[in-house]
Amino acid sequence: MIYKSDQASLQGFLEDTSNLKTGHTPGVFFPETIEELSDLLKTAHTRNRRFTISGNGTGTTGGRIPMGDYVISMQKLDHISELVQIADDRANLTVQAGVLLDNVQKKAEQSGWFYPPDPTEKLCFIGSTIANNSSGARTFKYGPTRKHISRILVVLPQGDLLNLSRGACMADDNGMFRITLPIAGNIVLQSPQYCMPDTTKHNAGYFSEENMDLVDLFIGSEGTLGVIAEADLLLIRLPKSIISCLVYFRSIDDLFSFTRQLKDPENSASPRAIEFFDKQALEFLSAKYPEIPSQSDGAIFIEKETTPESEEADLETLFVLMESCNAMSDESWMALDREEQARMREFRHALPLLVTEWLRKQHDSKISTDMAVPEGKIRELFDFYRSSCEQQGFIYIIFGHIGNEHLHLNILPRDHEEFLMGKELYRKFISKVLALGGTLSAEHGIGKLKAEYLVEMYHEAGVREMARIKKSLDPFLVLNIGNLVPVAYLENENH
Ligand SMILES: Cc1cc2nc3c(=O)[nH]c(=O)nc-3n(C[C@H](O)[C@H](O)[C@H](O)COP(=O)(O)OP(=O)(O)OC[C@H]3O[C@@H](n4cnc5c(N)ncnc54)[C@H](O)[C@@H]3O)c2cc1C
Repeated sequence: MIYKSDQASLQGFLEDTSNLKTGHTPGVFFPETIEELSDLLKTAHTRNRRFTISGNGTGTTGGRIPMGDYVISMQKLDHISELVQIADDRANLTVQAGVLLDNVQKKAEQSGWFYPPDPTEKLCFIGSTIANNSSGARTFKYGPTRKHISRILVVLPQGDLLNLSRGACMADDNGMFRITLPIAGNIVLQSPQYCMPDTTKHNAGYFSEENMDLVDLFIGSEGTLGVIAEADLLLIRLPKSIISCLVYFRSIDDLFSFTRQLKDPENSASPRAIEFFDKQALEFLSAKYPEIPSQSDGAIFIEKETTPESEEADLETLFVLMESCNAMSDESWMALDREEQARMREFRHALPLLVTEWLRKQHDSKISTDMAVPEGKIRELFDFYRSSCEQQGFIYIIFGHIGNEHLHLNILPRDHEEFLMGKELYRKFISKVLALGGTLSAEHGIGKLKAEYLVEMYHEAGVREMARIKKSLDPFLVLNIGNLVPVAYLENENH
């Protein structure tokens, strides 16, 4: 197995897109087979080694950044099988964890199939998207990654291999899972008993559901319970064609009214994605896209699946809705062919990249929210975000997945004082979101950056439950320590 410990090779593993700058590691292992990965973990305890799992470093919460632990890179586990049709409208694709999401999507599309999860950034590893239950714009129609996974092969913290198909290991009526493993022996594990928020997206803490599937405990566990080594992905038929458009509004009230109508099942608009850009986001983007109308107060990006036969009627429905909500129809951008749609996707992707670029020149990280609220509550949260930031004179942008009542607020601190003020405000945002019945993270997960806030959502009892689950599967505390479950809850029995 390749092992690297020279500074030049390590540097790339000390970063992701969180701007967290305190990472350090003695070295990085690159297992080339699942057996090598298992061997590393089998000997971890006796060699007194801890490991942080590394995907491709596009995460936003510092999850892959080691704080003194060794790194396991998933880079070399990148085998992708041939896809197999399993029903008229379903196919299966078996992949190892280090395959790029981009390659999965391209492989599916080349043969007329479609893998719906699309967390904007395509250069992430498929294993990480499963470990983080990644979402994205299409989650509005298709749900998060967990909906599209039928099997996972997990390497557990003591080195056991657990091959889990959906339905094979379900929690009983008391919420208990029972598994027998060659190394760890008999494990009896209680599934989380806390309730999940009533949001359409949620990715903070271990998944919980009555009679839940063990597969769902691992999906979204951010590498704290095991390493996702391989998975079976469920593919559906590629939609025949897509309408994409970016619709500008002079008034934010009109924009919200348009969004509500788009989501209304009575309307036949039924998009697969509804995304939002506020005025500041558009101003940020206008450096690269000068055609953005300056009098616009915000924009909505829509993607809708259609067919050549129904495209005209679908466009008509959309125009009628735009007109009824006073959209800036003439300035709006319609993309009906693949090239134009690729340009529009680039436009959407440009925003987080421009923000990251801006931040690299600053000393402090951004303060970013990833919180979602239940249906009908996003306007209240948006107004709260906006008025709070205006009061403090922050540079900020609000954008994201408005269809799922999930907007990202990014505060961009110009100096350390603003950073501290922003952190203070972040706590107020959490209280507001929780009071609205929302979630601390809708998609990016908790990682290292947000572990300290988990207790506000789950209280002591909920976080203790998570620590108990973690310790049942990782009794020697070997894997991804510092991610998701606050360390104090793992190391201190009194917590
Ligand atoms: C511009 C941009 C836009 C983004 N938009 C979205 C979005 O819309 N929705 C969304 O959900 N995310 C989004 N993300 C976040 C990101 O792409 C995802 O979180 C992705 O899953 C991270 O993949 P990675 O390979 O880069 O993982 P890394 O950043 O390397 O790691 C992420 C975490 O996963 C763990 N991990 C990695 N591989 C494994 C494995 N095989 N088994 C167990 N644990 C593992 C790591 O330890 C770490 O905790 C965006 C990121 C960027 C840069």
